[in-house]
Amino acid sequence: MSATLYRKYRPQTFADVVSQEHIKITLQNEILAGRLAHAYLFCGPRGIGKTTMARLLAKAINCHNLKGFEPCGECPSCLEIADGRSMDLVEIDAASSRGINDIKELREQAKYTPVKEKYKVFIIDEAHMLTTPAFNALLKIMEEPPQHVLFVLATTEIHKIPETIISRCQRFDYKKIPFLELKNHLLKICKQEEIKVDDSVLDNIARLSGGYLRDSLSLLGQILTLGEKEITASAAELVLPRSDVASAVKLISLLLAGKTGSALQLVSSLIDDGLDPDYFLKFLTEIFRQIMLAKVNQDWQALIYEVGPEYYKEISEEKWISISAERLIKIIDCCFEAVESSKRALIPQLPLEICLVKISKLLQESTGKVEEVVAKPKDKDDNDKPSASVDNNDSKDEPVETEYIPIKEEIITPEKPAKSTSVAKIDFAVVLEKWPEVIEALKSHNFSLAAFLQVGQPARMEGNNLILGFQYSFHFERIKERANAEVILNVLEAIFDTKLTFSGEINDSYGKNFAKVETKNMEAENNIVKAVLDTLGGEVVPAD
Ligand SMILES: [Zn+2]
Repeated sequence: MSATLYRKYRPQTFADVVSQEHIKITLQNEILAGRLAHAYLFCGPRGIGKTTMARLLAKAINCHNLKGFEPCGECPSCLEIADGRSMDLVEIDAASSRGINDIKELREQAKYTPVKEKYKVFIIDEAHMLTTPAFNALLKIMEEPPQHVLFVLATTEIHKIPETIISRCQRFDYKKIPFLELKNHLLKICKQEEIKVDDSVLDNIARLSGGYLRDSLSLLGQILTLGEKEITASAAELVLPRSDVASAVKLISLLLAGKTGSALQLVSSLIDDGLDPDYFLKFLTEIFRQIMLAKVNQDWQALIYEVGPEYYKEISEEKWISISAERLIKIIDCCFEAVESSKRALIPQLPLEICLVKISKLLQESTGKVEEVVAKPKDKDDNDKPSASVDNNDSKDEPVETEYIPIKEEIITPEKPAKSTSVAKIDFAVVLEKWPEVIEALKSHNFSLAAFLQVGQPARMEGNNLILGFQYSFHFERIKERANAEVILNVLEAIFDTKLTFSGEINDSYGKNFAKVETKNMEAENNIVKAVLDTLGGEVVPAD
């Protein structure tokens, strides 16, 4: 069916050819002017219409009633070519006829004038497959081509064609068909087939085909085999791979916004709806790969094919584009890791969830703004020394070293520190009393951030620096990220009516306390948050 459709709608005139304007116009002008090259080289991906264009060219130059540059389609030559029985059009598939003898035979044929027509046209498909002696033999003919001979070499791998051959040819590079042009072409075929296909299905076909005409027609052919007069998205799901672009784009946007909790929630609901986490993980990997390629090639248009025009706008926004190539490589590494561990995962969606949390972390770091607010991490040997901060001058007390030898993190300060003279002292008892308020207020800003903060607990005040205790440094890492730290600092200021700073203290005992104190709160959270905690807790070793 699919091959039929491709054959059935194979262009018979230049006007019928979808896209490739740059090639069409040049060829048309050469036909009109009667100034043809002796050899053409068509390069580009498979199934994009190279051979079709070669046949059109052959038709045009041998047509008895050429109309401008268009072959008439009715004269004996046109009909013979259309039927594949022209003696003056020789098609060679270099994938099977690649040796010196094949080219020698070609050379013999080339010597004789065309049987009936003006030109003898040789189309050598997959030309890169020719052997070196065959290329040499071909070169000999090309160096002194008989007037009546025209070669068209088609290849998907131009780098395998010898430079000596390339320099003898007029070269054309075929491009992927732009999304909308391809979609319009599909629409036209649907009309001719008298079938109504949902717009979203055509989007999906165009996307899945990656801009290759033959693939798109093959997919459309599969849809047509359903035998319906009207194809809806759900009907198409029977034969087309399901499209998860919308979910993936939404997910990445959430991760970019630092909304890890919502991202995990989204994945959870998708899985409830039957999404295969392994499949989705691979799909996500592919999207990140495409973003990386677009980034490296500086060609964001190419992404249209991955996501369709509907989501392209979102992706081409600054946030997506600003992810560095380096960061993308790390993200893709995360995905690979998750794909590997999904092979032996006890909880099927866990590798995907862990992966998302890691990606979120990488993306938040990638804003490059974290370092601006949070002081550079200290050297390891500095870890147990008290931290200092410009706006913490009134905190003269040495930090209380507990028996756990906690690790002090750098102090997180507001961007514009308040003058120390105007800062009111806040009693630790007040902090404890109002802590549930802090958590509630945070939830309205960022649900997952509140959840992260609840993993820890207020430990004590040092001046106006609030020490937060965590079992794992990873949790505090998350909290001190610029965007998160800013939210927390604002909430603290709003609730305690004065500017506070905060820092982290890591030791095992906080985890135990958390388990006792916070169980009640935990029950109130949904299992997504629990998954976040499981994910993080299971991943991270206590800070050294
Ligand atoms: Zn004709």
